[in-house]
Amino acid sequence: MVGILDSKDLEARADAIVERLHGYLDAGKQVFTTSSFQSQSLPLLHMISRVNRDIPVYYTNTGFLFPKTVQFAEELADRLGLNVIPLRPEVPKIKQMDRAGRFLYASDPDHCCYLNKVQPLEPVLREHDIWVNGVRGDQSSVRAAMAEEEHAQFGCLRYHPMLEWDSRMVYFYRKTHDLPEHPMEAEGYLSIGCEPCTMKAIGDGNARNARWFGMNKTECGLNTTLVSGGN
Ligand code: SF4
Repeated sequence: MVGILDSKDLEARADAIVERLHGYLDAGKQVFTTSSFQSQSLPLLHMISRVNRDIPVYYTNTGFLFPKTVQFAEELADRLGLNVIPLRPEVPKIKQMDRAGRFLYASDPDHCCYLNKVQPLEPVLREHDIWVNGVRGDQSSVRAAMAEEEHAQFGCLRYHPMLEWDSRMVYFYRKTHDLPEHPMEAEGYLSIGCEPCTMKAIGDGNARNARWFGMNKTECGLNTTLVSGGN
C-alpha cells in the first residue's frame, strides 16, 4: 500500500504502465481498453490519454446503465480526449425476458450479463491483440487471483496494470491529477454498474458488495467468461 507521502512511488508506477503501453504499440499490437466509467476508472483512463488518445475505450451500454454514468462517460471523453466507443447488445430487450415476462436480470442475471456485456465485446477481442483491463486485486477474490498478463479468449492478451493498486492509491492519483468523481459517489454509490443490479454502499466492507445484492453473483462475466478457459 502506498502512503500519502509516496507520491513519487505512485507516479513511478504510473510511468511504468505508460511505458508498457507504449511498448505494446511500438511492437505493432492492436490495443484497446474497456471502462465502466466509475471514479476508480480514472487513473487508467488518464494514463491511456497520456499514451495515445486513439486507443479505443469500449464500454458496454447495456441499456440498463444509470443516465449519469452515460453522461459521465461523455464528459470524460471530452475532458481527456478519449476515443470512447459504446457497444450495444445484439439481442433486443424484447427478447431478453423470461417466461414470466420479467427481464432476465431478475431471474437469470448471468445470462443477462452475457447478452448485454460479454457478447457485445467478443468481436472486439477478435480484432485486437491487447486488452488493457483495470481490475484490481482488492476488489474480489476472483480478481486477486489474476496475473498481470493473462490469455483472454479469441487470441487476445489481457494486461492488468492496476492489479496491485488499491482504492487509496486510486484516490490519491485522482487528487494529484485533478480527476473528477462519478456524480453518484456523493450520493453513496461506491461501485456502480447497471441500475437494477446496483445499490448504495452497505456496511464497511468491499464496495462491490453493493452489486447484485442478495444474488449468488459477484462478476459480470467480463473477468471470468472472457478469460481463456473461462466458462
Ligand atoms: S449487471 Fe444486471 S442488468 Fe446489467 S447486464 Fe448484468 S444482470 Fe443485466
